[in-house]
Amino acid sequence: MRFLPVFLDLKAGPVVLIGAGELLRAKLRVLAAAGARIRVHAIDGDRHLGLSSDDTARIEIATVDPLTADLAGVIAVVCAGAGDVGVAMSVRAKSLGLPVNVMDDLEHSSFIFPAIVDRGDVVVAVGTGGTSPVVARRVREKIEALLPARIGELAEFIGGFRKSINERIAEFPLRRRFWERVIDGPIGAAVLAGRKGEADAALRAIPDPSGFARADKPEGSVALVGAGPGDPDLLTIKALRALQDADIVFHDELVSPEILDRIRRDTTRVAVGRRVGKPGIGQDAINKRLIEAAQSGQRVVRLKGGDPFVFGRGGEEVEALRAAGVAYSIIPGITAGLGGAADFEVPLTYRHEATRMTFLTAHKARDAETVDWSTLTDTRMTVVVYMGMTAAPAVRAGLFAAGRSPETPVGVFARVTRPDEQGAIGTLRDLPELVRRINGGPAILIIGDVVRHAGSLHRQSPEKNPAQIISDLLDAAE
Ligand code: SAH
Repeated sequence: MRFLPVFLDLKAGPVVLIGAGELLRAKLRVLAAAGARIRVHAIDGDRHLGLSSDDTARIEIATVDPLTADLAGVIAVVCAGAGDVGVAMSVRAKSLGLPVNVMDDLEHSSFIFPAIVDRGDVVVAVGTGGTSPVVARRVREKIEALLPARIGELAEFIGGFRKSINERIAEFPLRRRFWERVIDGPIGAAVLAGRKGEADAALRAIPDPSGFARADKPEGSVALVGAGPGDPDLLTIKALRALQDADIVFHDELVSPEILDRIRRDTTRVAVGRRVGKPGIGQDAINKRLIEAAQSGQRVVRLKGGDPFVFGRGGEEVEALRAAGVAYSIIPGITAGLGGAADFEVPLTYRHEATRMTFLTAHKARDAETVDWSTLTDTRMTVVVYMGMTAAPAVRAGLFAAGRSPETPVGVFARVTRPDEQGAIGTLRDLPELVRRINGGPAILIIGDVVRHAGSLHRQSPEKNPAQIISDLLDAAE
């Protein structure tokens, strides 16, 4: 390592900044954003520097020659767009033992600027030894995506309790265990979810911090996580983090193998979902297993296709967890209807044409009979039907009864966002026939004038069943 990452105390004194043009202004913005006191020498005589009135208290525009200016108390010298003056300034700063950075000039720099991830009290500095700032920025972007947005608040939260906990737990290793348990458990999760009041109360309610740190099983929790319709890149950042942190994952059959691949390798996976024809272990048994796993101190993820609260029985699971006093959180996912609409370019609302939408489930013809179709008469309402393949004839009958025209455009979209996705487009009259053309579910039905705008069928790649696509296009043109 040529450059050791350290953090400079900006309260200790001013930074001297020398240079010209946009390079100078850019560095000024970086230093000002960090809260530095800055003495600027604009060697091109620029007096404006794009400063706001807030800045002027901390930023002083120097008019003397930087090569002879008094540097007493200065904590660092930075040159950006300073040309030869930068090189001369570097010699001067080094002779005074002052850290100096000359932009894009490693030879004359005794320190360099990292790429910075700034989350309040948590700051991550990324360096490449000055070789490639572009690579450093790419790494920074990855870290930005990985770090919870409120990680700085978590550090601040802990900072607020550190003194009192130090007084109550004398041994350092035990103290560290205490904080690890707090961060990894429901209290940390509450801070990261923005519920600081709740976290504060929970931490204060710990009667015996040493006992809490020593307890052989930490407090477990359950995250209800939406996995989206299949494409792993459609997982939210939060969902991905939950999968990486989980000790055990209970997942539905609908969750795609590519998504299961994102689970940490040593995590236990349990398939609990129902499949058409196979009963699965049943909702009560699922609830029971979630609760038992959390009570044994594990971080549990309940992973569901799409969104947990859209035809996903997330509501029942939350009720059971609440009743058992288990800590839980809910991470939404992209529901199949939205995934299908995006992939097949069906805008679910469209100016005056579609001003509202309904998501409904028609699991079996019997269920379809219980749907109140009379609420779906409005032709400006887009109807998205889940679990509607076998019930397609009943869906059609219901919509006819509601007065919808046989010419209403419909789309059947199967395995959306997956590599083998498939769509068939036609009219309500043909709905059962369209469903027959689909080689297996899961599939959603989208019904309404907006299906006319479906754009992607003609752009699908050849491996996606060309005969199918052509016949679809002919149908759509009819
Ligand atoms: N919670 C899920 C829905 C579960 S119900 C969500 O929000 O998406 C199961 C139904 O969802 C299936 O019968 C089908 O209608 C729909 N579905 C789930 N994944 C799908 C996919 N990849 N493509 C099309 N439909 C899907």
